[in-house]
Amino acid sequence: MHQLSRQAFLQSAVAVAAGAAGGLTPALAAWAADQTLRVTALEPYVLQGGRCFVLVRTDAGITGLGEASPMNSVAAAKLIETAFAPLLKDMNPLDIERCWEKLYYRTYKQGVMGLQPEALAAIDIALWDILGKVTEMPLHQLLGGKRRDSVRVYASIGGGAHATPAEMAKRAEQAAVEGFTAVKVRMDYGPVTPDADVEKDLEMLREVRKAIGPEVELKYDVNNGYSVPTAIRVGKMIEELGVVHYEEPVAQTDYAGYAQVVEAVDVPVAAGEHEYTRWQFRDLIDQAHVDILQPDLVKCAGISEAVKIATLASTHHKLLCPHQTQPTIGTAANLHFTSVFVQNDMAQELAENALKSPLHEMFTTRFEFSGGRLTVPNGPGLGLELGRAYPRGCFRSMATPAARPISPIRPIRPITPRSPLDILS
Ligand SMILES: [Mg+2]
Repeated sequence: MHQLSRQAFLQSAVAVAAGAAGGLTPALAAWAADQTLRVTALEPYVLQGGRCFVLVRTDAGITGLGEASPMNSVAAAKLIETAFAPLLKDMNPLDIERCWEKLYYRTYKQGVMGLQPEALAAIDIALWDILGKVTEMPLHQLLGGKRRDSVRVYASIGGGAHATPAEMAKRAEQAAVEGFTAVKVRMDYGPVTPDADVEKDLEMLREVRKAIGPEVELKYDVNNGYSVPTAIRVGKMIEELGVVHYEEPVAQTDYAGYAQVVEAVDVPVAAGEHEYTRWQFRDLIDQAHVDILQPDLVKCAGISEAVKIATLASTHHKLLCPHQTQPTIGTAANLHFTSVFVQNDMAQELAENALKSPLHEMFTTRFEFSGGRLTVPNGPGLGLELGRAYPRGCFRSMATPAARPISPIRPIRPITPRSPLDILS
């Protein structure tokens, strides 16, 4: 029998597969030539509005695009530049799991909540984008295949703590007019002032329900704002308003309190936007007993970790409804992910004005919104194409003077104290 080397076999298999589709793409040909790509650079950018995007470049010329949570965008960009870039350089971007493990475990002392997983999320999303471009497959196919061509989305309407019931009702009504079949009222309280104005909250929900009518789904996000007794009382009262999703009613750290609320109310309780890894979601499931898990792909260390969290959700028969408030890359990543891993047609989060964001001007592709649904992109990877000004002009035109694109990696001069006591001065 004719013996083929493993490399020759893989090359021929790739050639056959690609040939059926009309020939090798340059990126696929580069991969097939020696089965490796190399990361040549990570370029983080802080954009208007505080968004942090990252470009991962390879020696084949193909690039991947990712996004980190905007909450720590400047710090995330610096972490990418100083800590992650040297670790990822020369690695094969298609070895996503190995890349993830190296980046995570070599930097976990930066803190495994917040900044570190958010910065890692941007890189991981970009690596999946590269894999999609190399194979010319959309991300949903690489993740296992979409269950639906479009995803039902809800308008996520924030600022309830500082708005009047009439103002929130008007915005919710506008969302319904635009075609949304579900809305969420977000209070944005935080855990600092619990139970600030419960009667106004209830009045707001009643006004919103009146404005959107009985057919539009209503979700309610307290953003950590209630004590446990209040969360239980409100949770029982909002059942008659048809609320289908009761999010973060108590402080995010109070797992025991969540468990009490879940036990006492019938409306499904949601949480998870402040959890970052599979291990934190394991604890949220085991100790808080919430019904709906909400990983955020630009926070929870990326698509790779979100897949593991989805497996946890499936293992424990929990509903999955990711947190998602970013208009472009975050939206695309979430559409792919939810079309594969969310088993039902539960409405997924979309910020109220996300489709009107000026960030869309960076891309030649547009999201298709119709009937309260967003079409899942079908282009390679994320399915987003940057405009002709790509890469630098486009990014620079969007960057504020105070937050220009971060310069390439340069060595940081070590601080040498004159004496040990200087450290303390
Ligand atoms: Mg929330």
